[in-house]
Amino acid sequence: MYRVCQDFLATRNQMSKTPRIRIPPEVKKYVFQRDKYQCQSCGKTTVETNLSIDHIIPLSRGGQNDISNLQTLCLICNQQKTDNIDPRFRRHFD
Ligand SMILES: [Zn+2]
Repeated sequence: MYRVCQDFLATRNQMSKTPRIRIPPEVKKYVFQRDKYQCQSCGKTTVETNLSIDHIIPLSRGGQNDISNLQTLCLICNQQKTDNIDPRFRRHFD
């Protein structure tokens, strides 16, 4: 029991170390333009769907707020990615 608590706290500390900062508008614009305003997963454009900026490697896994780690995803793909990538959060809904 003690061991579980220790691990839990360690995970919490790691996650709080990575600041989830707001991506500056000029960076968003750069990523959108680089990706031609197209979702990098399903290829939909800004005309067909709402686009968002996604961290390719999530911040919680050591990803950086860097343009090389950012991509354009539509809200649907972004949501699906979030659902798939971290099984810890799914358990609550099973
Ligand atoms: Zn998409």
